[in-house]
Amino acid sequence: MSFQKDPAEILARLDRLRAADAPTHGGHVLSYVYDSGLAELDELAARAIRVMQPVNGLDPTTFTSVAVMEREVLGFAREMLHGDDSVVGTVTTGGTESCLLAVKTARDLWSGEGRPRLVAPVTVHAAFQKAAHYFGLDLDLVDVGTDGRAHAEDLIARFGPDVALVVVSAPSYPHAALDPVAAVARAAAELGIPCHVDACIGGWVLPFWEGLPDWDFRVEGVTSISADVHKYGYAPKGASVLLQRGRDRQRAQYFSTTRWPGYPVINPTMLGSKSAGPLAASWAIVQALGMDGFAELAASCQRSTRHLVDLVNSIPGLTVVGDPVGPLFAVTGDATAPARERIDPHHWADRVRAHGWQLQLQPSLVQSDGSVLPTTTHLTITPVTESVLEPLSEALVAAAAEVRGIPPVSPEQVLASFPPELLAGLAEAGPLDSETAWAFLQQVGLGGSDELPESLAPLLALVSALPAPLVERLLTELLARLVEPR
Ligand SMILES: *Cc1c(COP(=O)(O)O)cnc(C)c1O
Repeated sequence: MSFQKDPAEILARLDRLRAADAPTHGGHVLSYVYDSGLAELDELAARAIRVMQPVNGLDPTTFTSVAVMEREVLGFAREMLHGDDSVVGTVTTGGTESCLLAVKTARDLWSGEGRPRLVAPVTVHAAFQKAAHYFGLDLDLVDVGTDGRAHAEDLIARFGPDVALVVVSAPSYPHAALDPVAAVARAAAELGIPCHVDACIGGWVLPFWEGLPDWDFRVEGVTSISADVHKYGYAPKGASVLLQRGRDRQRAQYFSTTRWPGYPVINPTMLGSKSAGPLAASWAIVQALGMDGFAELAASCQRSTRHLVDLVNSIPGLTVVGDPVGPLFAVTGDATAPARERIDPHHWADRVRAHGWQLQLQPSLVQSDGSVLPTTTHLTITPVTESVLEPLSEALVAAAAEVRGIPPVSPEQVLASFPPELLAGLAEAGPLDSETAWAFLQQVGLGGSDELPESLAPLLALVSALPAPLVERLLTELLARLVEPR
């Protein structure tokens, strides 16, 4: 058969599309991508994926390679996280799926009355909001200090017979706070409450980080851990592990049915048919690096992170939030500095972007006690960072000088920039339909382009200014329109 279009032409267009993406290599994007800086490791992963391209990861009895690779990746992860023989697990397609499955397991094992409850600090990854929503648990989010630190006693105070799971992070995504795993897990174990450690971001790097208290399976009450291979395991997207303590616990993760006229469906994860590519890439990477290789890459991350944290703290007007653990941290304005010296972290991030480096803007959060977690800018450090430390540092310092003293965009200011009847209309519209939401987005200059505006600070201010359900609806519209056929 002759193709409608020449493959070379198709791939040339793909190359042009990719060229418009944020750069996935070279350390210029400090979130989303985890660059080992080792081209030969990426090449190995690509070849492993290619080999597995036609395989269906759904059935390890038909495609026996899948079982072998999964077993070996899990064995490596179990050793790294100090699990004994009672720890078993699954390779999933990502952190969110690992977190969802940890919650689903806990829900199915819970035997209380009424609705099960999930207790976690407010800084826990949004995947747990999703899990509670999907699986029908009440989400009980506990305030943390304004430095992002969760307090064990505040979490423990919420324990009760309806609690199906407590979740702590190692570390938290927003501020890189290492939650008090041991104290929480110990108290939970006494009440028979399972404790999940979300180490999606830390799981493949904290085991090699110097000077940390125990947070993994060495802590007795820890019943499950999620750790993303597609973060600090340097695998392509689509790979995470969920390890659970105890076979009987882990079996509750499975969905099994023989009650249909097709093949028996016995699934440890959410998907049916799935790619075995990311698993194969993970499997290859784990063998190539070994524990020593991961340790070396972690040491590079630790050097770069220490350098950048010290640098940011030395910039008048900026400060690192709390006491970050692992290769990530959040930056906020130094509230103790006089106003003319203070730096808004979002203006700063926008200027840093103009210098060619993408940091991640994070909104403020008002907690239930009225205290406010400040707006921050997030940096994720990877091994490749070390090769660009100097120009990155220069950009961080230069951008700070350019925005020092410029006050943050206030929510009132953004709201005032819209015609009052527009906002009144939105408030009265009730649940927004797609057309109204789209019209609003276009009026504020967000509809119709594939790209984000140059300055994100006003956008984040808008996110903070409007009620969450409204912003959530508007952003849903924005993302949904992006993929509508044109
Ligand atoms: C990234 C992350 C997740 C979600 O993982 P995805 O792979 O993006 O689905 C969950 N928890 C933490 C702490 C994370 O950093």
